[in-house]
Amino acid sequence: MDVRDLYEEVILDHNRNPRNFGARPQDANASADGHNPLCGDQVRVHLSVKDGVITAATFEGEGCAISTASASLMTEAVVGRSVEDAHALFARLHEMLTASDAPDANGDIGKLWVLAGVREFPMRVKCATLPWHTLEAALHGDETPVSTEVAEP
Ligand code: ZN
Repeated sequence: MDVRDLYEEVILDHNRNPRNFGARPQDANASADGHNPLCGDQVRVHLSVKDGVITAATFEGEGCAISTASASLMTEAVVGRSVEDAHALFARLHEMLTASDAPDANGDIGKLWVLAGVREFPMRVKCATLPWHTLEAALHGDETPVSTEVAEP
Protein backbone atom coordinates (compact mmCIF):
# COMPACT_ATOMS: atom_id res chain seq x y z
CA MET A 1 0.00 0.00 0.00
CA ASP A 2 1.56 3.32 -0.95
CA VAL A 3 1.20 6.62 0.88
CA ARG A 4 -1.52 7.79 -1.46
CA ASP A 5 -3.82 4.80 -0.85
CA LEU A 6 -3.17 4.98 2.86
CA TYR A 7 -3.77 8.74 2.84
CA GLU A 8 -7.16 8.32 1.20
CA GLU A 9 -8.13 5.50 3.52
CA VAL A 10 -7.09 7.36 6.68
CA ILE A 11 -8.71 10.65 5.61
CA LEU A 12 -11.98 8.87 4.80
CA ASP A 13 -11.93 6.91 8.03
CA HIS A 14 -11.21 9.91 10.27
CA ASN A 15 -13.66 12.10 8.40
CA ARG A 16 -16.47 9.56 8.74
CA ASN A 17 -15.65 8.71 12.30
CA PRO A 18 -13.68 11.56 13.84
CA ARG A 19 -11.91 10.78 17.12
CA ASN A 20 -12.31 13.11 20.08
CA PHE A 21 -14.97 15.11 18.26
CA GLY A 22 -17.38 16.84 20.56
CA ALA A 23 -17.84 18.93 23.60
CA ARG A 24 -15.22 20.57 25.70
CA PRO A 25 -13.82 18.18 28.33
CA GLN A 26 -14.96 19.10 31.85
CA ASP A 27 -11.44 19.86 32.98
CA ALA A 28 -10.40 21.73 29.81
CA ASN A 29 -8.27 24.77 30.55
CA ALA A 30 -7.29 25.91 27.07
CA SER A 31 -9.39 26.53 23.93
CA ALA A 32 -9.00 28.37 20.66
CA ASP A 33 -10.87 28.93 17.39
CA GLY A 34 -9.48 28.59 13.92
CA HIS A 35 -10.81 29.49 10.49
CA ASN A 36 -9.56 28.75 7.00
CA PRO A 37 -11.43 31.24 4.78
CA LEU A 38 -10.10 29.70 1.57
CA CYS A 39 -12.00 26.49 2.23
CA GLY A 40 -14.52 27.52 4.89
CA ASP A 41 -13.10 25.24 7.59
CA GLN A 42 -14.02 26.18 11.17
CA VAL A 43 -12.49 24.40 14.11
CA ARG A 44 -12.51 24.85 17.87
CA VAL A 45 -9.90 22.97 19.87
CA HIS A 46 -10.18 22.26 23.60
CA LEU A 47 -7.30 21.01 25.72
CA SER A 48 -6.69 19.92 29.26
CA VAL A 49 -3.12 20.69 30.21
CA LYS A 50 -1.76 19.47 33.54
CA ASP A 51 1.82 19.96 34.69
CA GLY A 52 2.93 20.73 31.16
CA VAL A 53 1.31 17.60 29.68
CA ILE A 54 -1.74 17.49 27.40
CA THR A 55 -4.11 15.08 29.12
CA ALA A 56 -7.17 15.54 26.89
CA ALA A 57 -7.92 17.10 23.51
CA THR A 58 -11.23 17.48 21.69
CA PHE A 59 -12.41 19.48 18.72
CA GLU A 60 -15.66 20.85 17.37
CA GLY A 61 -16.60 22.64 14.20
CA GLU A 62 -17.26 22.04 10.55
CA GLY A 63 -14.78 21.61 7.81
CA CYS A 64 -13.76 19.63 4.80
CA ALA A 65 -12.63 16.02 5.03
CA ILE A 66 -8.98 16.99 5.30
CA SER A 67 -9.38 19.51 8.12
CA THR A 68 -11.65 17.13 10.04
CA ALA A 69 -9.30 14.17 9.57
CA SER A 70 -6.28 16.27 10.47
CA ALA A 71 -7.97 17.54 13.65
CA SER A 72 -8.95 13.98 14.53
CA LEU A 73 -5.41 12.66 13.98
CA MET A 74 -4.03 15.63 15.91
CA THR A 75 -6.13 15.05 19.01
CA GLU A 76 -4.99 11.42 19.03
CA ALA A 77 -1.37 12.41 18.51
CA VAL A 78 -1.01 15.09 21.19
CA VAL A 79 -2.71 13.45 24.18
CA GLY A 80 -0.03 12.26 26.57
CA ARG A 81 2.62 14.54 25.08
CA SER A 82 4.25 17.46 26.81
CA VAL A 83 3.38 20.91 25.47
CA GLU A 84 6.96 21.20 24.22
CA ASP A 85 6.69 17.89 22.44
CA ALA A 86 3.40 18.95 20.81
CA HIS A 87 5.06 22.12 19.46
CA ALA A 88 7.94 20.02 18.12
CA LEU A 89 5.53 17.56 16.50
CA PHE A 90 3.76 20.36 14.65
CA ALA A 91 7.09 21.84 13.56
CA ARG A 92 8.03 18.49 12.00
CA LEU A 93 4.61 18.05 10.41
CA HIS A 94 4.64 21.59 9.05
CA GLU A 95 8.05 21.06 7.50
CA MET A 96 6.91 17.80 5.94
CA LEU A 97 3.88 19.52 4.38
CA THR A 98 5.54 22.69 3.16
CA ALA A 99 9.22 22.06 2.41
CA SER A 100 9.66 21.23 -1.26
CA ASP A 101 12.43 18.72 -0.58
CA ALA A 102 11.04 17.35 2.66
CA PRO A 103 11.39 13.64 3.26
CA ASP A 104 8.17 11.70 3.80
CA ALA A 105 8.81 11.50 7.50
CA ASN A 106 11.15 14.04 8.98
CA GLY A 107 11.81 12.63 12.40
CA ASP A 108 9.23 10.55 14.19
CA ILE A 109 5.75 11.83 13.49
CA GLY A 110 4.03 8.47 13.81
CA LYS A 111 0.68 8.11 12.06
CA LEU A 112 0.77 11.74 10.97
CA TRP A 113 3.03 10.85 8.08
CA VAL A 114 -0.04 9.80 6.08
CA LEU A 115 -0.85 13.52 5.84
CA ALA A 116 2.14 13.77 3.48
CA GLY A 117 -0.41 12.81 0.81
CA VAL A 118 -1.80 16.36 1.06
CA ARG A 119 1.38 17.73 -0.53
CA GLU A 120 -0.05 16.72 -3.88
CA PHE A 121 -2.85 19.24 -3.27
CA PRO A 122 -1.16 22.50 -2.17
CA MET A 123 -4.53 24.24 -1.66
CA ARG A 124 -5.36 21.70 1.03
CA VAL A 125 -2.20 22.14 3.08
CA LYS A 126 -3.96 24.94 5.01
CA CYS A 127 -6.87 22.60 5.71
CA ALA A 128 -4.42 20.11 7.22
CA THR A 129 -2.49 22.67 9.27
CA LEU A 130 -5.51 24.69 10.53
CA PRO A 131 -6.21 22.42 13.54
CA TRP A 132 -2.53 22.61 14.47
CA HIS A 133 -2.37 26.40 14.29
CA THR A 134 -5.48 26.40 16.47
CA LEU A 135 -3.81 24.02 18.92
CA GLU A 136 -0.81 26.36 19.10
CA ALA A 137 -3.11 29.30 19.81
CA ALA A 138 -4.80 27.34 22.60
CA LEU A 139 -1.43 26.42 24.11
CA HIS A 140 -0.33 30.05 23.97
CA GLY A 141 -3.60 31.21 25.55
CA ASP A 142 -4.34 33.27 22.45
CA GLU A 143 -7.92 34.55 22.47
CA THR A 144 -7.81 35.89 18.91
CA PRO A 145 -9.29 33.39 16.47
CA VAL A 146 -6.69 31.93 14.15
CA SER A 147 -7.02 32.53 10.43
CA THR A 148 -4.87 30.64 7.98
CA GLU A 149 -4.71 33.83 5.94
CA VAL A 150 -2.79 35.72 8.58
CA ALA A 151 -1.37 33.04 10.84
CA GLU A 152 0.93 31.16 8.46
CA PRO A 153 4.46 31.32 9.84
ZN1 ZN B 1 -10.58 22.55 4.05
